[in-house]
Amino acid sequence: MATDCIFCRIVAGEIPSKRVYEDDHAIAFLDLDPFKTGHTLVVSRTHATDALEDAEVLASIAPAITATGKLLVERLGASGLNVLSNVGEDAGQSVFHLHVHLVPRYADDAGMGALLTRTASGDLDEVHARITA
Ligand code: 5GP
Ligand code: ZN
Repeated sequence: MATDCIFCRIVAGEIPSKRVYEDDHAIAFLDLDPFKTGHTLVVSRTHATDALEDAEVLASIAPAITATGKLLVERLGASGLNVLSNVGEDAGQSVFHLHVHLVPRYADDAGMGALLTRTASGDLDEVHARITA
């Protein structure tokens, strides 16, 4: 574990997070600053810098991406989902530990162009309860 890495510390439980799913290879928790309601990060338990560093680590989090994506769609009534990972500062990466964004999308906010317009509603506790209850 990299002690100066915020996601390693969240994985270790040293920093709290609102977890919605976990398995042996990944944990999924709500993004602190969501673009859309239910915006979730799937984070590898193993430290890797980004999605291109280690194909095995990337592959190991695929089941958690699938399971968490389905959970979000079901529980939040999303009609779509963006699955994306930023690699490098120029692509918008700000935390250098492999993570995949799952951004639920709703019928009134369609399209890739609207992805980065913040329309999340409900506080994180309320959204967390809807997903995990
Ligand atoms: P990136 O910009 O690297 O693709 O994504 C990093 C994401 O992590 C951002 O969307 C940011 O809001 C989120 N984030 C940063 N620090 C924390 C934290 O301590 N807790 C949670 N839950 N999310 C965080
Ligand atoms: Zn890390």
